[in-house]
Amino acid sequence: MAQERSLLLIKPDAIQRGLVGNIIARFEKKGFKIVGMRMLQMTKELSKEHYAHLVGKPFYPDLERFVTEHPLVAVVVEGKEAVEVVRLIVGPTNASKAPGGTVRGDLSNSTSRNVIHASDSKETAEKEIRRFFKPHELFDYKFANAHYRYAADE
Ligand code: UDP
Ligand code: MG
Repeated sequence: MAQERSLLLIKPDAIQRGLVGNIIARFEKKGFKIVGMRMLQMTKELSKEHYAHLVGKPFYPDLERFVTEHPLVAVVVEGKEAVEVVRLIVGPTNASKAPGGTVRGDLSNSTSRNVIHASDSKETAEKEIRRFFKPHELFDYKFANAHYRYAADE
C-alpha cells in the first residue's frame, strides 16, 4: 500500500483552549497512524521559514506573534493518501466557512486562529516533516490490526 505522511501543527490557540486531545482523536479514529509527536515553541526564524509564502502579507506580523507566543504540538500522521485526506478532515483556511465535521468547522470561527496546520502537498509534507522532526524522532511500526484498517489491495 502506498503510505503517505503529513505534518500537523496543533496551534497555540488549540492548546490554550484545551482542544489537543479532541483534535488528535479525530485523526486516530480515521485510521491514521501517529508516527511522530513533539511539543515545541516556534521561533520567529522557524515561523518565517514555515510561512515563507506569507511573509509579505499584511497579516504576517500577527500570524508570527500568534504562532510564537505559546507552545504548539507537532504531529506526523501516516496513512493512505494522507496529505489529501488530512486536508479534507482539517477543512478550509477560513474556519467560519469550513463545513461541520471538519476540525476547523467544528472548533473555530476564524481565518487566523484556526487551530491546526496541515501540509498542502506531498512535496511540502516531506519538507515540513524534516523541518520539525529529526529522523530518529519518527517511528516505523505496524498496526497489529492493519487488516481491519485497509484491504490488502489498498
Ligand atoms: N492566515 C491568517 N489570515 C489570512 C490567511 C491565513 O491569519 O488571511 C493564517 C492562518 O492561521 C492560516 C495560516 O496563516 O492557517 C497559513 O495560511 P495558508 O494560506 O497556508 O492556509 P492553511 O494552509 O493553513 O489552510
Ligand atoms: Mg498552508
